[in-house]
Amino acid sequence: MFRDKLSVLLAALLLSIAALGSAYQASPKLVVIIIIDQFRGDYLERYHQEFGPNGFRAFTDRGAYFPACYFQYASTRTAPGHASIGTGAYSSAHGIFSNEWWDPAQKRMVSSVEDASTKLLGADAEGIGASPHNLLAGTLGDELRLATDGQSRVYGIALKDRSGILSTGYSANGAFWIDRDSGAWLTSTYYMSSAPHWLLAFNGQGSAKKYLNLEWKDSDGTVLGSTAPRDSDGGKPLSYYEMVGSTPYANDYEFDFARELIQQEKLGHGTVTDLLVISLSANDILGHQVGPDAPQMRAMALAMDRQIGDFIAFLNQQYGQGQFWLALTADHGVAPLHATDKHLSIPSDSRTDPEARAQLNKAIGARLHKSGDYVRALSSPIVFVNNEAFPPNLSEAEDETYVAEALKSMGYLGAYTKEQMGSGELAPTPLGHLYLNSYSPYGGAWVMGVPTPFSYAPSGKAIADHGAPYSYDQHVPMAFYGPAFKPGVYREQVEPIDLAPTLAVMLGINKPTSATGRVLTEAIAQRSEAPVPAPPVPRPHPPKEGHP
Ligand SMILES: [Zn+2]
Repeated sequence: MFRDKLSVLLAALLLSIAALGSAYQASPKLVVIIIIDQFRGDYLERYHQEFGPNGFRAFTDRGAYFPACYFQYASTRTAPGHASIGTGAYSSAHGIFSNEWWDPAQKRMVSSVEDASTKLLGADAEGIGASPHNLLAGTLGDELRLATDGQSRVYGIALKDRSGILSTGYSANGAFWIDRDSGAWLTSTYYMSSAPHWLLAFNGQGSAKKYLNLEWKDSDGTVLGSTAPRDSDGGKPLSYYEMVGSTPYANDYEFDFARELIQQEKLGHGTVTDLLVISLSANDILGHQVGPDAPQMRAMALAMDRQIGDFIAFLNQQYGQGQFWLALTADHGVAPLHATDKHLSIPSDSRTDPEARAQLNKAIGARLHKSGDYVRALSSPIVFVNNEAFPPNLSEAEDETYVAEALKSMGYLGAYTKEQMGSGELAPTPLGHLYLNSYSPYGGAWVMGVPTPFSYAPSGKAIADHGAPYSYDQHVPMAFYGPAFKPGVYREQVEPIDLAPTLAVMLGINKPTSATGRVLTEAIAQRSEAPVPAPPVPRPHPPKEGHP
């Protein structure tokens, strides 16, 4: 009798749990964040008429589209950009302020993700691995993993290690990038003890070679590039990264790998939401070589439009319409070419890093009455200060001040020392605010110069660059696609750090630890338009007897 009552009770309970489960169906099977490396926000407008119906237009015409999205910090580079998107916060919170910096302990420049305690996996590639060990903040991926007791799976893909790693965070199941010479896909021992069998098979079956020896042609047949193996101007063979990486074939290669990952790891086929971040690196590699207004950049954007459309079709076929969410953004924009500035009578400074370094040393040497190399490294407009060259009675902060004064004497609009930024001694101006957001405790002693607008340092083949605190470098796309979003064009200014907190609230999870972005509530579909989003929690265990 008692047993019967109990089983009825249990059945009712299970039913109610199942009902709860059905309300949870708003949680997507998979969230895909597409980050395009060096894709300025205005490109979506510039080529809108030429795009097909199912690529970028899924976002701009049928999604929630924010055409005025600007990073509000100064150092607009790849590593800080990806970290900011993942954490919903700026460098002052996540620590990543540059692609590389001086490591006082190792006495050398290090990349933002290299990690001597890890090894590379996936190919014969030698050398140390990479990890998010420098991140000082959690990510959207981390929160998804925490909310589901690790059941949600989180992956990142990019040609560049820093892009897949910093956008996904500490607890990601894997980040994948390519070996620059061979094009083989890699990961590191930070994520797993050995490379997945499917990755080794993918590398082994000539997936990278498929894109060698191809011509890249415009729609009218004009040859825009080639992936035929050849030597660089310096006589060294060009790497896969440079050859294929500067053509749309690199995006094909990344999407090939993304499809393989989705199918092999059965992403989006568990009981909870999975997250995949795909950073398309080719736009940046090409963009540095030709500048934003070259015909190649238009052709790259149109190719990407088709590639993204094909990928959305693949997701539709994998999960069914409305079962996945997409977000689109970029890590930074890019400055117009100096040649363009000249043509339009726009003043800009085209000093190279070696020229600036010589001028810095001259100016500081004159003030200290002692010639020396006062600069450890220059990654314009960041100067890493060589304290050892300065008189020993000066503090690090004083050394930085000498560099800042020298930068101002060289025509920079201003210069902020790490000491000033760290202690909050910045002018309470919009510009000061941008620099405050780019502070980091890493990198030894350094100074950020404030270049005049449109200024950047060309170097070798890289005739275009980014990294300034100005609109052209800060402007990126921001758009969402999926049933949880209210289609429309939202013209209020937003920031890339809004992406993570917005997705977090829609998924019913905590926002990333240090996120300061705004939830873009205006773009969230009302309950009547879409089922209520609910947490992607694993199904609770049935209650045990005696513990109602
Ligand atoms: Zn770049």
